[in-house]
Amino acid sequence: MTRRATNKTLQILDAAEKGRYGVLAAIAYNVEHITAFVRAAENRKSPLIIQLFPSALTQTPSLVHAAAAAARAASVPISLHLDHAQDYDQIKEIADTLPFDSIMVDMSHYEKEENLERTASLREYCHARGISTEAETGRIEGGEDGIMDTGDLEGILTSPEDVEDFIRAGVDYLAPSVGNLHGDYGPKGPQPDMDRLRGIFKALNGRARLVLHGTNDFSPELSKACIEAGVSKFNVNKLVLDPWYDYIRANINKPITQVIDEGIEVLIQSMERWMDIMGSSGKPSKGEHT
Ligand SMILES: [Zn+2]
Repeated sequence: MTRRATNKTLQILDAAEKGRYGVLAAIAYNVEHITAFVRAAENRKSPLIIQLFPSALTQTPSLVHAAAAAARAASVPISLHLDHAQDYDQIKEIADTLPFDSIMVDMSHYEKEENLERTASLREYCHARGISTEAETGRIEGGEDGIMDTGDLEGILTSPEDVEDFIRAGVDYLAPSVGNLHGDYGPKGPQPDMDRLRGIFKALNGRARLVLHGTNDFSPELSKACIEAGVSKFNVNKLVLDPWYDYIRANINKPITQVIDEGIEVLIQSMERWMDIMGSSGKPSKGEHT
């Protein structure tokens, strides 16, 4: 079978772009997060992508296996994605040894030519192992947990012309830089360049799915506008986790088992709310994907 027919992240995002809805690609830091993400997806009958940062692979090495097992056992389509993998040799090792369905090969800390060359080579390596790949065009400003290389570099906006180069590099998902940034937005809030986003989607012309990074502080309205502009994969972190952090801060003195249970419940509700906003609730069942 072809990679397209068997790769879970590809199946989930192909269906999302066709159906014009967004899929949450949520960062998990621990097993409670994974548990809540999967329960929310099953409750809402929604597809989902669980994401880990490369830092999780050394910080909590068993987490990737817990996430893979939870995704496999779920009654809805759930894939496992590695976000912002920036180390060339480490990516090859990960592709050889860990159960990711897709990997973001983020070479955006290199200048464009080298970025493209390394992206194409890693894409080939991953594809040969059944793993689909995401890349960043231009450079999204700001840093995230454990992603140290891009934090100090200046952002570069993606042009529709950049898109051709990355399509030639063969990536499956494209994360453009359109005024979105990693980390928290200032008092004005996020103000992505929607015309640029629409232009990039048009330039992609169905050849790769469109991904949005830097969604902290996004409103439901802005998220929906981005779906209309063509985004199918929404990388989310604090957007969905904030209610869980608030709960933990306020309740840390309760017995640990109670904190775990109630924390999971709070996070399930947050995830379900955003699945409804993204329009992924009730979308293709596992059967329809095969
Ligand atoms: Zn990102």
